Amino acid sequence: MNDQEIYQRFMAYMNNPVWEFTESEHLMPMLTSFISPEEAAFLTGFPHSSRTLEQIADIKNMDPDELLPTIKAHCRKGTVYEGKRGDSVRYRLWTAVEMFTRAAFWPSDVEEEAKLMAPHVNKYYMDGWYEQKRAFTHPELRTIPISETVESGTGFMPFEDILKVVENYEYYTVSKCPCRAHHNLDPDYKPSPFPMEVCLHFNELGHYIVDNNLGREITKEETLEILKKSADAGLVHGINNWEESPDTICNCDLEYCTYFKPYHQMGFDKAHEPSNYQVSTMPELCKACGLCVRRCPMDALQLKFSTQATNKFRKAVVVQEENCIGCGVCVHKCKAKAIILKQRETTTRPPKTVKDMVNLNAMAVLTAKGLMEKN
Ligand code: SF4
Ligand code: SF4
Ligand code: SF4
Repeated sequence: MNDQEIYQRFMAYMNNPVWEFTESEHLMPMLTSFISPEEAAFLTGFPHSSRTLEQIADIKNMDPDELLPTIKAHCRKGTVYEGKRGDSVRYRLWTAVEMFTRAAFWPSDVEEEAKLMAPHVNKYYMDGWYEQKRAFTHPELRTIPISETVESGTGFMPFEDILKVVENYEYYTVSKCPCRAHHNLDPDYKPSPFPMEVCLHFNELGHYIVDNNLGREITKEETLEILKKSADAGLVHGINNWEESPDTICNCDLEYCTYFKPYHQMGFDKAHEPSNYQVSTMPELCKACGLCVRRCPMDALQLKFSTQATNKFRKAVVVQEENCIGCGVCVHKCKAKAIILKQRETTTRPPKTVKDMVNLNAMAVLTAKGLMEKN
């Protein structure tokens, strides 16, 4: 089998009816700069769902001891995920999008292959590959507000109180933000001004990250400091968009984030799933400094003439409610305390589990493609 055929087989194996490799001049350069033909041949047939070493050895018809070093090398490369629960260790392929846009860019010292791949990832992403997510009903991240920006006395549901969520983890880690990493490695993009080491992963995913040198262990207190530093910098906290056992808290920027970029640059109607809060303004307190307008990642705020304004400009901030995702980035820096997050009249809950979210999105994509009937 020649190299071309090996890559074609790999792509066919990674494709599924919901998400597939799409045609683009950047597809093959992205693949071949990161994965060698030998690696592509090894990954083809590797289980998509978690299996033990012995089960994979059976599939690959190899001795487990000989197989393990190859699997471990793929774990460090970000192509295979290793999940440890007690004494049980299981492996599975990362999905294509996680492999090429996320895990490859976690290490603090990104490999040469990932550097070569980065410019193609950015272009391929915009060249139709990410378009397939347009039909998703549930973005994979949900906004979780900066804690002190919510009006005091407001009740939180357990999944939206970031301090409680952080309190309940057993193991804490941080990695570089892969979205900003692959843009920073592309000479066609200017370097991101935002902090890089702000991707927080917990529990089982955290162990995978640290065991495979894709990030480092931190304490709960350091986690809270990173959240504070991110909020100061104007980054949006985003947590997995499911209720049970979320394992990631992202701190996202509006330009390079894999969720804000489609919203601002590809006309998607959602970035992160909005939180259950939205900004409420107190025009009489507003100084019309414009800081909140500049910090808002959703362009939801404007300074406008107001009869209630008490400042010399006679202006106060107004919110376009349908654009507000309830992140609190604007509130966090308003010294005049003229804006606050209030609970929305209608609140929503995320899907219960990661499986629920994946299934809902899969159904939406299959319906949009005409492969499934609308309910
Ligand atoms: S989703 Fe956000 S924090 Fe996570 S990797 Fe992307 S920009 Fe960084
Ligand atoms: S709401 Fe606060 S930050 Fe925004 S313009 Fe008014 S004073 Fe400035
Ligand atoms: S107005 Fe903008 S910055 Fe403020 S909470 Fe809404 S989306 Fe976030």
